[in-house]
Amino acid sequence: MKTCPYCNYSNYDNAAVCRKCDGPFMVDPGTVYHGRTYWMGPEKAKTIRSRALSLIVLGLLIKVYWGGYGPWPTVDFPALVTARGILEPLLLYGGAVLYVFGWIVTYV
Ligand SMILES: [Zn+2]
Repeated sequence: MKTCPYCNYSNYDNAAVCRKCDGPFMVDPGTVYHGRTYWMGPEKAKTIRSRALSLIVLGLLIKVYWGGYGPWPTVDFPALVTARGILEPLLLYGGAVLYVFGWIVTYV
């Protein structure tokens, strides 16, 4: 039996990872354990999700402060209205799509 160094669970002698906690055993010095291989990995996915959240927050700020929801007068030249019409959905929906994407790549 091979005892896990992380959780003390007894595993089979030929086990490469712990059955209970997935902790790696060094099988032999030539074998390097890489863990589960991901397309991007949970760390990168977390970064993508936090970037997506900041995009959504930025989109909401534009919607509130530039969209005429406040008591202040909205500066709206025609070019600015066009820019807001593009920026706002791009940030809000793009951020939402990016967040879902970042959530999915945590597991693939
Ligand atoms: Zn273990």
